[in-house]
Amino acid sequence: MTTTSNAETHKVVLVTGASSGIGEATALRLAREGHVVVLGARRTDRLQALVEKIRADGGTASAQRLDVTDREGVRAVVDRVVAERGRIDAIVNNAGVMPLSRLDALLVDEWDRMIDVNVRGLLHGVAAALPHFARQGGGHVVTVASVGAHEVVPTSAVYSATKFAAWAITEGLRLESDPGIRATTITPGVVESELAEHISDPGARTAMRTYRRDAIPADAIARAISFALGQPADVDVNEIVVRPAAQR
Ligand code: NDP
Repeated sequence: MTTTSNAETHKVVLVTGASSGIGEATALRLAREGHVVVLGARRTDRLQALVEKIRADGGTASAQRLDVTDREGVRAVVDRVVAERGRIDAIVNNAGVMPLSRLDALLVDEWDRMIDVNVRGLLHGVAAALPHFARQGGGHVVTVASVGAHEVVPTSAVYSATKFAAWAITEGLRLESDPGIRATTITPGVVESELAEHISDPGARTAMRTYRRDAIPADAIARAISFALGQPADVDVNEIVVRPAAQR
């Protein structure tokens, strides 16, 4: 008979950017599968509503205010997860922003924001989780990158750069880590979420309306994350690309 420990089947998972879109769908799915989920983001009212929904469905969840650009804040949240739950099995580094624009629009503050959230935020999550993974003898870093990690289109230069970086950081982590630590890049195509609502550049905003009309539900990405997390300890799913069937 094959036996699996509770830690293998029911993991303690921190999901960043859990207040909407892919993070919200991931938290809902993982909780439904019996995992203990900790939801992090800045909009705590949204997180609290989601925690209540998960608990009403019989799941286990809690919320933590989290700004991934705050290195000490991320560390404090991860430490609190371990203090309260005894361990952290996985961190889903999902928080991200995508204010697309052409470089000559010179929206330099938005470039900085993408770098701060999509790159530094990811690194802060990795830095906070790795000491616990080393002490526990294992753990799983899941990075939500983008097809922008593999392609550049006009208006995506900086966003794609941050997602190339996210891919590289996750691959570097995989190569450097002991086998107990797993690293997965999830690479979504166009997905229903609030991501494009924060584009301030009028041209990029209009272009995105057409590009995003084939968007698939965020749960399609949540299922991929669940698949990667659910593999046995000796299997590391390195990257999953999930696009709408209609996306070219
Ligand atoms: P949403 O805008 O719906 O969600 C983004 C999440 O990130 C929100 O929960 C937001 O929470 C959080 N977030 C933003 N800034 C911060 C911050 N400083 N600290 C903590 N959390 C933050 O978009 P998606 O669900 O689509 O985005 C999730 C990820 O998926 C992103 O990394 C995105 O790049 C990636 N992606 C999305 C695609 C899509 O088509 N939707 C395609 C490819 C990749 P709050 O504002 O409450 O802090």
